[in-house]
Amino acid sequence: MSIKVVAFDADDTLWVNEPFFYETERKLCALLEDYLPHHTVSQELYRMQIQNLPLYGYGVKSFILSMIEMAMSVSEKTISLDVVEKIIGLGKEMLEKPIELLDDVEHVLHSLSGRYRLVVATKGDLLDQERKLKKSGLEHYFHHIEIMSEKREIDYRKLIKHLDIEPEEFVMIGNSLKSDVLPVLTMGGHGFHVPFHTTWAFEQIDHRIEHANFKEFTSLKEVLAHL
Ligand SMILES: [Mg+2]
Repeated sequence: MSIKVVAFDADDTLWVNEPFFYETERKLCALLEDYLPHHTVSQELYRMQIQNLPLYGYGVKSFILSMIEMAMSVSEKTISLDVVEKIIGLGKEMLEKPIELLDDVEHVLHSLSGRYRLVVATKGDLLDQERKLKKSGLEHYFHHIEIMSEKREIDYRKLIKHLDIEPEEFVMIGNSLKSDVLPVLTMGGHGFHVPFHTTWAFEQIDHRIEHANFKEFTSLKEVLAHL
């Protein structure tokens, strides 16, 4: 491998993210239990999120809007403003969460810096991701931060063009096979998968990946043996 740039996904690769969404969803279920059983609230929320993705994109702000819209819809617009206020409060709580770095992140970044250009490539709200990166204390390790609306092959091609490298000089490390690995392999880059214990349904795929440029690890520090 002649790697020049090592790119990291952020949410559930560098720091904890998805569990906060589940935690909020559980609180939302409790708020709406007069209207619907918990599992139905979860299903309806997922449906609303996916429906709104093309308009709102990823991240907490769009999650807040989807929670409110879903609550209005399942209550047939009888939900009180008090509940709407609570939902907005749940969202703000998410935005103010402290950063919980995952194991060995600092060690891995420290070991790779100086040998490679390190990059963050993440989806989500621009302001929220910038805030998280600042709070994480990791910003100084990165040569470039790319906050992307989508992680498709075309989006990665734009990124490597901007970085002025060839696909085979790029490795992407992340917890999502669908967003962090598959499009990068298709482009001709390298994809390293470090699974997190929980993955949002939308990011799941149902087939195994067999590819010469693909590697899977059980912990982030294992990537050091290959870089
Ligand atoms: Mg992720």
